[in-house]
Amino acid sequence: KRDYALKPMNCPGHILIFKQGIKSYRDLPLRFGEFGQCHRNEPTGGLHGIMRVRAFTQDDGHIFCTEAQIQSEVLAFTTLLQKVYRDFGFTKILYRLSTRPEKRIGSDESWDRAEHALAEGLKASGCDFEYLPGEGAFYGPKIEYTLKDALGREWQCGTIQVDPNMPERLDAEFVAEDGGRHRPIMLHRAIVGSLERFIGILIEEHAGALPVWLAPVQVSVLNITDGQADYVESVVKRLKNQGFRVDSDLRNEKITYKIREHSMQKLPYILVVGDKEKAAGAVAVRARGNQDLGVMPLKAFCEKIASDIALK
Ligand code: ZN
Repeated sequence: KRDYALKPMNCPGHILIFKQGIKSYRDLPLRFGEFGQCHRNEPTGGLHGIMRVRAFTQDDGHIFCTEAQIQSEVLAFTTLLQKVYRDFGFTKILYRLSTRPEKRIGSDESWDRAEHALAEGLKASGCDFEYLPGEGAFYGPKIEYTLKDALGREWQCGTIQVDPNMPERLDAEFVAEDGGRHRPIMLHRAIVGSLERFIGILIEEHAGALPVWLAPVQVSVLNITDGQADYVESVVKRLKNQGFRVDSDLRNEKITYKIREHSMQKLPYILVVGDKEKAAGAVAVRARGNQDLGVMPLKAFCEKIASDIALK
């Protein structure tokens, strides 16, 4: 279903916040965002891992603005979305603009203006887009942002949607320059959509081998014998103090067994320490994919992983 990413869930709550106190045209655009809890009673057969669940969290946001501000808000949102997708390693994005459906409310002139603003906002962001004629909501047009993963699969995640209707229905208004009361336009927007589903997409994209900055555990420290247990603890402590996500494996198992087990978890780094490493204040570093990076001082390893993270 194409419009999975966004349904009106937290929208009325944001209108209530908007309605706290009198708003002036000077307050606009006014942008609210939240990681909003959503629930949907999907049929059992529709549930699928973390890709489709009944309770999820959405990076939900609403922009209250004037009609004249739609275009610049679409540009700013699209630019932010491109930046976020790029950080996660997605550079191929498909842009689709859904226009007025047959059954709709609102004048043709207001549809003309809203569709034009979305198209111009997209053009200003420098992207190519296609039209989906008749696919808009009954109250306004929308843009859908679909990312393409490493295997060419398409995932619709982001959206921005023009809605003059809900502010009308829930009586949101602002004082315009002329002193009169006007309705704001509401833009519903989400970048990743469902966080749970996005995590699923990331795991698929990277085949489980998440980049260092994203990996839930970045480093595991393994001792060869009990004689290095205290050193392992001090290495873990030092890495944790620098903000890295680290665990240790002090089990009384063969080192080859422990390495194999952590390799299968696709950890970015495994550090092995024996008596030699302990004596030298060093670590033997294995990077994901069974790469032996040799023995290095702990400080050098800290610099290496910090640079991995900085470079994403
Ligand atoms: Zn909404």
